Amino acid sequence: MTADSSLTAPGVEYAATASEAYRAALAVIESVEPRIAAATRKELADQRDSLKLIASENYASPAVLLTMGTWFSDKYAEGTIGHRFYAACQNVDTVEALAAEHARELFGAPYAYAQPHSGIDANLVAYWAILATRIEAPGLAELGAKNVNDLSEQDWEALRAKLGNQRLLGMSLETGGHLTHGFRPNVSGKMFHQRSYGTDPETGLIDYAAVAAAAREFKPLILVAGYSAYPRRVNFATMREIADEVGATLLVDMAHFAGLVAGKVFTGDEDPVPHAHVTTTTTHKSLRGPRGGLVLATEEYAPAVDKGCPMVLGGPLSHVMAAKAVALAEARQPAFREYAQAVADNAKALADGFLKRGARLVTGGTDNHLVLLDVTSFGLTGRQAESALLDAGVVTNRNSIPADPNGAWYTSGIRFGTPALTTRGFGAAEFDRVAELVVDVLKNTEPAAASNGPSKAKYTLADGVADRVHAASAEILAANPLYPGLTL
Ligand SMILES: *Cc1c(COP(=O)(O)O)cnc(C)c1O
Repeated sequence: MTADSSLTAPGVEYAATASEAYRAALAVIESVEPRIAAATRKELADQRDSLKLIASENYASPAVLLTMGTWFSDKYAEGTIGHRFYAACQNVDTVEALAAEHARELFGAPYAYAQPHSGIDANLVAYWAILATRIEAPGLAELGAKNVNDLSEQDWEALRAKLGNQRLLGMSLETGGHLTHGFRPNVSGKMFHQRSYGTDPETGLIDYAAVAAAAREFKPLILVAGYSAYPRRVNFATMREIADEVGATLLVDMAHFAGLVAGKVFTGDEDPVPHAHVTTTTTHKSLRGPRGGLVLATEEYAPAVDKGCPMVLGGPLSHVMAAKAVALAEARQPAFREYAQAVADNAKALADGFLKRGARLVTGGTDNHLVLLDVTSFGLTGRQAESALLDAGVVTNRNSIPADPNGAWYTSGIRFGTPALTTRGFGAAEFDRVAELVVDVLKNTEPAAASNGPSKAKYTLADGVADRVHAASAEILAANPLYPGLTL
């Protein structure tokens, strides 16, 4: 069996062996709860049949997926490698050490923490680690002790006041930041005094001089860089200069674009890892691993990050850490660099396909893995466009655009990403065709009125369009099968 991680051209033997494994697994599941086996089969069929353009999704390899279905799930392993609160963790130690080693090697990081259960958990670990590293407990110095149990009740009161009153500067949600970067309804927007930086209203690009000015005025403890819906690269060297000037810790959340960092599409100033004090990510988006999170850190922050569980996180998901190790091993192979470059090239092809058909894009294009289409030019809200596209079998998500006239719920944008369909083997020609199909749907969608006036949700899609687009995408999907050779 070959360890070919290229999902578009897996070895014949690899596909046959994976098929055998899944058939056996489904038979075992079927004997206990057949409806779950049926839903699992149906999920594969549905994923195979849909044009998945959700920028945060991907398809992990059979090796990654199979790794999650084992008895590592049964083990408790709170603590860190070699220092567990539970006995008999020798094999979990092996797994976590391998996941961390692959992550350090892949990203060139001094330290990696493989336990976070998700991207949000990784950010919580990072926030806690930064506070724990930078905020000293009042009274400890006078006590000349390291033991927090010696603190007085007044010291505790003062510590709580200090921990709860720190400042965080992050990218605003409406210009592409993530809700954990200080968005008010999120815990990060409540535990920190928060302020946001946005993008230039003319160009849609991050205005570094404006970020620097905000940092000088606000003096944050933490500067957060990274995004979920910004279609451009970020200069992390400049972000670090800004952080250094005001004494802030630079946290880069690369959840969306970790695959482009791993695949060396983002290098130099665009590679966050050498510039950030702490870097967080998910492992399931462009990185193409299992659902989960990862924290990378400098030596200075490593000891606090290493205490993530049980300070912030519940017991580690050892079966998922094992799958992270497998996915990271895949990402270290040369084929992953080709994949990452194709993800970026395909995003350009998709953007060009929209532009040449007269559509308007936020920032006028892309140089990462995502494209943000402004659907107001079609006279639609994001909600209407998302629903009409879904009727035609095109899976996307609506997204705010800068200064969105329709607010955060209905929105005015549709976000498209190339990681998933690139995994299926789509190239530039296929993405140009995708742009054509999307424009076909949106041009043929009309906003509809509700009984009490204009609606931001209702719409009508002209007759025949959904069928026409379904048929066209079925053809491209059949030519680029998901998990080729895998039969259940
Ligand atoms: C997706 C995302 C997250 C959250 O990841 P989960 O695994 O869903 O918790 C955090 N930060 C950014 C920038 C993201 O895009």
